Amino acid sequence: MLISIVVPCFNEEEIIGRFHEHVTKELGDLGHPIEMLYVDDGSKDRTLAILQEIARSDPRTRYVSFSRNFGKEAAMLAGLRSASGDTVVIMDADLQHPPELVRRMVALHEQGFDQVIARRTRKGDRVTRTLTARAYYRLINRLVDVELVDGVGDFRMLSRRSVDAVLELTEYNRFSKGLFAWVGFTTVTFEYENAVREEGRSKWSFSKLLNYGLDGLLSFNDKPLRAALYLGIVLLTIAMAYSTWIVGVTLVNGVETPGYVTLLVALTALAGVQMMMIGVVGEYVGRIYYEVKRRPHFLVQETNIDGAPGGASQPQNRELVHR
Ligand code: UDP
Ligand code: MG
Repeated sequence: MLISIVVPCFNEEEIIGRFHEHVTKELGDLGHPIEMLYVDDGSKDRTLAILQEIARSDPRTRYVSFSRNFGKEAAMLAGLRSASGDTVVIMDADLQHPPELVRRMVALHEQGFDQVIARRTRKGDRVTRTLTARAYYRLINRLVDVELVDGVGDFRMLSRRSVDAVLELTEYNRFSKGLFAWVGFTTVTFEYENAVREEGRSKWSFSKLLNYGLDGLLSFNDKPLRAALYLGIVLLTIAMAYSTWIVGVTLVNGVETPGYVTLLVALTALAGVQMMMIGVVGEYVGRIYYEVKRRPHFLVQETNIDGAPGGASQPQNRELVHR
């Protein structure tokens, strides 16, 4: 059983060498051959040079390098596409995903599980982050039809058939957490304690996280549109009840002039709600816009995988070629 280890890397020069050493040492006596598959996501530092060096000295190493930064989702897709293993493990390059856990994953996989998921605990996280995550997952699980679990990320082992299933999903807006859950198959989860990033910096800023959260909410189904419809109905009902009441009061008491504030508040609130709803619709239209373009998810600039294109100049081969 060949195990492919897919590692997306973006500006990881400080740690990538140590990562490789650590993983290969840890998994050398696994009893199964491994293939290290690095995807350089358009790093601006020496990441690619280091990967080339590693590949020269370790024949198990393959790498793919993008023409620019396409994001972790695209990098994972590239890795899954070019992985030749019978199983694939996806790992971060920053050693936050302890390589020793792969042993446990293999054992569980051998018991027949298609997806073996490592779920991180939130130990060591800031309280605010933990609480927002908890609230977010409560909300999102109400809105999407796959089950998303807090702490479950991309660190997992996939069987060949679940990799193939994920590759069948060719959508442009990729929200992997959801895609993996959508695929299904027999799944098992175990917990591990989250390690603090040792070198380099996390690429997640607050606004990036916020946008990622929104993507998750919107890229899985059209329930937010449905919610918008319901909100509209509720508001309309309130407005009708209120107007009936006003007419009644006027008939009994005669015309009253106050109401300026009520009017203004109602007006601005409704305008706000309408804007928000147009925004929701717009998000979906935007997604359709990207899907219909059918652009490739990434462009490969360089790779040491046989048969893969050398550059972005061959249009028929712009995406990575399978091995
Ligand atoms: N990464 C990537 N492309 C990006 C951003 C990140 O390939 O545009 C990689 C990064 O090199 C790392 C993994 O994705 O291996 C997770 O990134 P990071 O550690 O910054 O995220 P965090 O662990 O904080 O969620
Ligand atoms: Mg990290």
